[in-house]
Amino acid sequence: MTQNDAYISIRNVNKFFGTFQAINDVSIDIHQGEFFSLLGSSGCGKTTLLRMLAGFEMPTSGEIFIDGQPMSMVPPHQRPVNMVFQNYAIFPHLNVRDNIAYGLRKQKLPRVKRDAMVDEMLELIKLPEYGDRKATQLSGGQRQRIALARALILRPKVLLLDEPLGALDKQLREQMQLELRALQKTVGITFVFVTHDQEEALTLSDRIAVMARGRDLQVDTPTRLYESPVNRDVANFIGTMNFFDGKVTGIADGTAGVDVNGLGHVSTTNFGPKLRPGDDVCIAIRPEKLNLTESEPQVAGNKTQGQMDKAAYLGERSHYYVRLNDVSQPVAISAQNRQRAEGTPEEKRPVWISWEDNAFVILENR
Ligand code: ATP
Repeated sequence: MTQNDAYISIRNVNKFFGTFQAINDVSIDIHQGEFFSLLGSSGCGKTTLLRMLAGFEMPTSGEIFIDGQPMSMVPPHQRPVNMVFQNYAIFPHLNVRDNIAYGLRKQKLPRVKRDAMVDEMLELIKLPEYGDRKATQLSGGQRQRIALARALILRPKVLLLDEPLGALDKQLREQMQLELRALQKTVGITFVFVTHDQEEALTLSDRIAVMARGRDLQVDTPTRLYESPVNRDVANFIGTMNFFDGKVTGIADGTAGVDVNGLGHVSTTNFGPKLRPGDDVCIAIRPEKLNLTESEPQVAGNKTQGQMDKAAYLGERSHYYVRLNDVSQPVAISAQNRQRAEGTPEEKRPVWISWEDNAFVILENR
C-alpha cells in the first residue's frame, strides 16, 4: 500500500528521548473512517505515537502524512485532528452546553447556529436533557461523553483517543465501549484509539496495531490477530496460547507439515510467507481448539495421549491442564460447559487430546 490510499500514513518513524528509543522504525497505514487501535502494555510507546499524530511530539526521523500531506511542518492546531484524554479535561466552572461549545468560541458563529450544533451533539451522546447541568454534577461516564462531544463538534477528520475509558469502572466501561463504537459509525470519523486492554481493542476496532518495545509487531483485524498471530509476543498478548517446538517436514498445496514435540505430525494452512521446509518453528494452538476425552477419539490422526493434571470450573466454561511426554508445560484446554458430555477426568488419569485440521498456527520464530 502507498501513502496515497491511506488517510494516515506513518512512515519509518523513530523517536528518541535523549538516548532512549521510545519508537523504533514504525510504519502503519490507517484508512479513512477506520476505528484503529494501538494496543500494548505500559511503556510500549502507544501514547508517544498518538502524541506525534497530534503534533505534540515530533519524530526524530521518519514522516507522518495525513490526507497525503507531510505533517513535519504543521503545528498541532493546524492538523485535522483532535484529541480526547483519559482524564476528561472538562471545565468544572462551565455547564455542559458551554463545555461542548468551548472549541467553537474562536469561530465567531451566530448564536443560533452554535446552539443548534450543541443540541445535535447532546442528542448524539444521549444527554439531551443535560445542557444546563454543571460539569461537577455529572457521573464519570457522562463527563467522558461530554469530552467526546466537545471534540466531535469541531468536526475533526481524525479523533485521537488516549485510553478515554480508562478511568471508568468495568460495567460502565463495557457500556461506553458499545456507545463509542456506535458513535464512531454514526459520525464516520477516523478514530485512533490507545488502550492496553486487549478485550477493549478486540471489541471496538476494525484493525489493531499490537506494539511492544516501541515496535509495531502486527497490524491486523481482531480476527486475524487472534487466529493468525505472527509471533509469540502477539499470541501471548491476545488471549491464551499453547506453544510447541517443531520442525517443518514439507510444504505442498498451501499446507505445511510439522513434526511437533509431544504431539506427532501436525498439518496446517495457517502460516506466514517466510516458512521453508526444514525450519525449526514455534507452533501454537488456542486452548478452545483442543478437545479433551477419556476415550480415544475415532479419528485417524490429530490426537495424542496424555495425563490429566489440574482442572478449574469457571461456570460458563472449564479450564483443564494435561501433561504430555516431552513437553515441559502442561497443555491448557478450555471447553464450554454445555458441551461437556463427560465429567472432569480425575487427576493423573490417562486422557486424549485431539484437534481439527488447521487448528494450529505456525509462528515466526522471533
Ligand atoms: P502507558 O500505557 O503506560 O501510557 P505507553 O505505551 O503509552 O504507556 P509511552 O507513554 O508512549 O508509553 O512511553 C513510551 C516510553 O517512552 C516509556 O518508557 C516512557 O517512559 C518514555 N517516555 C515517554 N515520554 C517521555 C519523555 N518526554 N521523556 C523521556 N521519556 C519518555
